[in-house]
Amino acid sequence: MTYTDQLTAARTTPRPKVLISGAGIAGPVLAFWLNRYGYAVTMVEKAGAPRSGGYPVDVRGTALEVVRRMGILPRLREAHVDLRRLTFLEGDGREVTSLHPHSVTGGVEGRDLEVRRGDLADALHTTVRDDLEFVFNDSIDTLDQSGHGVDVTFRGGGRRTFDLVFGADGMHSRTRDMVFGPEEQFHHYLGYCFAVFTMRNTLGLSHESVMWNSPGRAAALYAVGDDEVHAFLNFAQPRLPFDAFKDPQAQRDLVATAFADSGWEVPGMLAALRDADDVFFDAVSQIRMPRWSHGRVALVGDAAWAPSFLTGQGTSLALVGAYMLAGSLAGRDHAAGFAAYEHSTRDFVTMNQALVGNGSATLFPTTPQALAERNDRLRAIDAVPSGEGRPAHSALTLPDFTG
Ligand SMILES: Cc1cc2nc3c(=O)[nH]c(=O)nc-3n(C[C@H](O)[C@H](O)[C@H](O)COP(=O)(O)OP(=O)(O)OC[C@H]3O[C@@H](n4cnc5c(N)ncnc54)[C@H](O)[C@@H]3O)c2cc1C
Repeated sequence: MTYTDQLTAARTTPRPKVLISGAGIAGPVLAFWLNRYGYAVTMVEKAGAPRSGGYPVDVRGTALEVVRRMGILPRLREAHVDLRRLTFLEGDGREVTSLHPHSVTGGVEGRDLEVRRGDLADALHTTVRDDLEFVFNDSIDTLDQSGHGVDVTFRGGGRRTFDLVFGADGMHSRTRDMVFGPEEQFHHYLGYCFAVFTMRNTLGLSHESVMWNSPGRAAALYAVGDDEVHAFLNFAQPRLPFDAFKDPQAQRDLVATAFADSGWEVPGMLAALRDADDVFFDAVSQIRMPRWSHGRVALVGDAAWAPSFLTGQGTSLALVGAYMLAGSLAGRDHAAGFAAYEHSTRDFVTMNQALVGNGSATLFPTTPQALAERNDRLRAIDAVPSGEGRPAHSALTLPDFTG
């Protein structure tokens, strides 16, 4: 075939049609690369627009190379929060110690990024919005793989057939429920729940985070440098409160009960929580699955392997995993592509999920003795971070894929 024949064939061969559920972090990255590799992408998002909000997120190690290859690294560098200090407080409000945040998170000064989740979501959406079909305010109702493609019906009433469908719809993925079965099989609860929301920066904090602890409870204020602070309330909760997940008032009540009679700024935080309109509440859990694909459907990001915020790697894994999934499908059929995706990405995910035993995971002890020991450990940490980062963050070298 001559070069001209190839061009003609490329123009006349229909592009495979794929549907991505979820326009969070993994979804737009997957869309960006699949579009490059010749797929016609539709993205369905249950919210009315890309969702902002949430605590600032880390982009580290291998994930930095993904955003660089997408051309958004300079924009994210500008949005870097540049947190300079992390102060820990005792239950009575006295200071335990004040550290550089990287001493605790394993981040690398001058290289790793911390950005508001909304800034990242916005940068990703802007990069892909002209190249795909977005359907907001809708979601998949049913999936049927018994024909030649995947027949999809939408909650909004539509019905279409796609060559492939991807679940990038977060830890409580409905795509996973429909194709792999109920979440309980894959959900490993780590014993805490948390709520994040924004409130006024009444303490005048700037580029710093202050965390108050009592056994089983942590309250933090995280100032990115403007009039608002990100409030974070994390608490031990022996059983997973399933009923609260769909009920915002039940979530507020659960948090208020867990933090009743707390000191420091907590009463003001609870008052702000009552009125906040951007509350993100979830369990601290991991999703662990033996396989990430079934037939013509594959999962990516939190839907496939949520590592929990205790690892600080949820966003970086979503970025890398989406890049690897799309690249694995470049020039391959879906069966070979999905096998290559598992083969190339699973070790990286497993290593990062295992970080749950390190760093911030030990920040939330549930007994007075364990909290006192944690405080002693924090006091002994070097004020200057090592500057090397954790090996797991960079354990995958990003391949170049060609479509
Ligand atoms: C608003 C928001 C705030 C967050 N804040 C925090 C935080 O403070 N701390 C933390 O640890 N993690 C937070 N997360 C989760 C964090 O973003 C992810 O761990 C990580 O970035 C992995 O990204 P993801 O794309 O796999 O999943 P997510 O970022 O969770 O994105 C999933 C997307 O799928 C959409 N979706 C869900 N169900 C459906 C459905 N049935 N049909 C269509 N679309 C659907 C969601 O609206 C969302 O846009 C937040 C997520 C969201 C959506």
